Amino acid sequence: MVKKISIGVIGIQGAISEHVAIMQNTLKTTDTPGTVFIVKNLGDINKIDALILPGGETTTISKILYKLGLHTAIAKKIKENNLPVMGTCAGCVILASEIIDDIKDDVKLLHAIDMQVERNAFGRQKESFEKNINIEGVHHPYNAVFIRAPVIRKIWGKTKVLAKINKKIVMARQDNLLALSFHPELTNDLRIHNYFLDMI
Ligand code: GLN
Repeated sequence: MVKKISIGVIGIQGAISEHVAIMQNTLKTTDTPGTVFIVKNLGDINKIDALILPGGETTTISKILYKLGLHTAIAKKIKENNLPVMGTCAGCVILASEIIDDIKDDVKLLHAIDMQVERNAFGRQKESFEKNINIEGVHHPYNAVFIRAPVIRKIWGKTKVLAKINKKIVMARQDNLLALSFHPELTNDLRIHNYFLDMI
């Protein structure tokens, strides 16, 4: 029997249902047997083969992840089982090892990807915008949606840059961990979720 892939989407706050819908659509269009479900408690972590950390409010998501014990469980599963994770926007911040944060919030990072991320790095005028970007490994161009987006300021170790806007890194990968500062779930374009599916 073909194994079904089980993909969890962290269901604390932010663009949750959008990730579930686009991931389900990606499984369907690629004929991949699998399920997508919302992760709300520790027990769910044992059931997942891959995880999506959605965008939203970084402080809220990271604090609740920690409170529920999910933070520790996810960090462990990444380290010990090579859990594939895609973090978008706030999810990208939480995957980082270092943060630059004007707000000086107590964000709990997963320290999963060797990168330093700056929150809200595009400044006030450009809080939200769309831009065509080139992504390595994805057919060009890709129309990316940015909402109060972070920027990946530095990478090291095994982390690789996949996309940039000028000098600002907006997508990076370390093994099977994927970080993007934009919102692929707010488009009908399945290419990023497809890319992630290939990593699982
Ligand atoms: N700027 C937000 C934060 O760091 C993230 C924005 C988003 O996820 N769309 O909390």
